[in-house]
Amino acid sequence: MRQILNNLYILKECTIGEPSSTIYLLNTNSVEELVLIDTGIGFDFEKELAKIGLNPKNVKHCLITHGHYDHVEGCKELIKLNPIMRFYAHIKDSKMIQSYINKDQDLNFKITDLFTDKTSSLKFGPYSIKAYHIPGHSSGGMAFLMSINKDKVLFSGDICGGGIESIGGNHDEFEKSLLELSKLDVDILCDGHMNVIRPSEEVSKYIEGCIKLNDYFHIGFDVAPKDLINWYNLALVSYQMKIYDTAYDACNFLLKLDAKNAKAKSLLNKIQKHDPNEYKPLIEKYLKEIYGKDF
Ligand SMILES: [Zn+2]
Ligand SMILES: [Zn+2]
Repeated sequence: MRQILNNLYILKECTIGEPSSTIYLLNTNSVEELVLIDTGIGFDFEKELAKIGLNPKNVKHCLITHGHYDHVEGCKELIKLNPIMRFYAHIKDSKMIQSYINKDQDLNFKITDLFTDKTSSLKFGPYSIKAYHIPGHSSGGMAFLMSINKDKVLFSGDICGGGIESIGGNHDEFEKSLLELSKLDVDILCDGHMNVIRPSEEVSKYIEGCIKLNDYFHIGFDVAPKDLINWYNLALVSYQMKIYDTAYDACNFLLKLDAKNAKAKSLLNKIQKHDPNEYKPLIEKYLKEIYGKDF
């Protein structure tokens, strides 16, 4: 747990490769009490909130960036703590979320507030929040923008760092959504897995990098799986963005296609110093799923 700004906290930080999203908390200091952004896959809300003197029963609102289980499983605990809590998500992801939560338990969980428009507005005490529908990573992806003092803060879910691949997403929508976010000119980006990115120059660089990564993934998986330069670019940009596991996978895959590639060997050495997670066969696995053959 750490404080980002006055009234804004990272309740649970995410380490790369961990199967849970980052959880953010806004204390509105008003009758609207506490607002969560995403819930992770399971979390001791009581214990962690007690550390900052807050009561989980006072979490009145939960904004969900999208329906993937790593962002929503924690809803199970939340409705037990406060059965009248309001949950906000886009209508296109709402069924997916409800089925995750209701799967094993008889909770009868329902998203209470559905987003259906391109943009919507919310107000919690003194905080106005603009909600944007940003499909691409999932069809019901949402981003939430608010101002805290002089800072523009954006919660973007996985549209940036968490899920760059076009697998399971939509390349064109993804690109459109990222371009939209880049125009918001925010000071602080609260990412679904990469935690907090700031100041605004770093946010711009990061979003631009994600647009490039998305293109490399699109070429690698959808257009030309044996394009060596594309895999090298993917590895290099991932490395520069400190997404070491993706860089590692891309480099290894490139070396499988071209064992003598000196540039890839040298980059792999640099990547290994950062102790990336070993998802080694991931790219091959995805390609096999798509094309039904080994590469
Ligand atoms: Zn995620
Ligand atoms: Zn996701």
